[in-house]
Amino acid sequence: MDAGLALFWRCCSDWFTISIHLKQEKVEHMLQLAGVTHIYPNETRALDGVSLDIPKGMYGLLGPNGAGKSTLMRSIATLQTPTSGSISFDGIDVIAEPEAIRARLGYLPQDFGVYPRVTAYAMLDHMAVLKGIAGTVERKDTVETLLNQVNLWDVRKKAIAGFSGGMRQRFGIAQALIGNPDLIITDEPTAGLDPEERNRFLNLLAEVGENVVVILSTHIVEDVADLCPRMAVLAAGQVQLEGAPNELIASTAGTIWEKTIPRAELSQYSAQYQIISNRLMAGQSVIHIMSDDDPGEGFVSVAGGLEDVYFTTLAKTRGNTAAAA
Ligand code: ADP
Repeated sequence: MDAGLALFWRCCSDWFTISIHLKQEKVEHMLQLAGVTHIYPNETRALDGVSLDIPKGMYGLLGPNGAGKSTLMRSIATLQTPTSGSISFDGIDVIAEPEAIRARLGYLPQDFGVYPRVTAYAMLDHMAVLKGIAGTVERKDTVETLLNQVNLWDVRKKAIAGFSGGMRQRFGIAQALIGNPDLIITDEPTAGLDPEERNRFLNLLAEVGENVVVILSTHIVEDVADLCPRMAVLAAGQVQLEGAPNELIASTAGTIWEKTIPRAELSQYSAQYQIISNRLMAGQSVIHIMSDDDPGEGFVSVAGGLEDVYFTTLAKTRGNTAAAA
């Protein structure tokens, strides 16, 4: 080969190697949890050795009620201290330096409790003061920008007490965004929203989540499937599964089987198979089971979805918990 051409190919190959290397380095784990355990005074072990490495972007934490999600969210948000384990964000030790993390944190709790009779504008302004934005001009700018961003400008003079669920959640995200946080924690934010409000809220979250860490804690599979490039399943206080939704779905290829049965036969099928999901369609039950081999009996192989991944994981967790008991 001509020496010039050989040099050219070597440069290309070096550039390719370097660019792969750079791409790999770009996945920076901003939020790191190691062995986080929380035991409540009544001895409930709500978290049991949770370790996660979370990069920038939307991160789904999926789990059923009682899985430990709120306990984990409150621990990251410095509202409670884990019994053991460590949490760090961008090099800050969250447990040792809660003040340092609070300045960079936005938290949308599961429930605000009482919704005040004050206007959205006044409440947001008050929360901006609490977050340390003392200058009047800066605060006015922050409050007005946020009210516009979450599409509540037209109702800024209305009391939050009269807001719909979707409006309250959008107000919730506005208060979480005060001070441009780079760690945003949302706890079951779409619970109780109608489909239109849910879409609007998730679009807003996706927009916000491009350059910061956003944790979306939820028991709703579609929230994660629609938005999150990475996710974990939390159940019984432990991380049962972690990865990219599309890879987790791909790992079920060839193992998900579907059958449409009369609703009345559901209990009979439940006794015979481990049903991982069951939905109604035109008055009949569409069931999914997981099997490495063709189960016969009229089941057909289908491409799995994130629901199959999730419910299979929960079924395995239940099996393991029952076996351990
Ligand atoms: P999730 O948010 O996934 O529903 P939680 O973190 O709220 O889960 O709860 C995890 C477990 O810890 C549950 O068994 C719950 O009953 C228990 N738990 C939560 N808060 C407390 C508390 N303050 N005292 C005792 N047990 C609690």
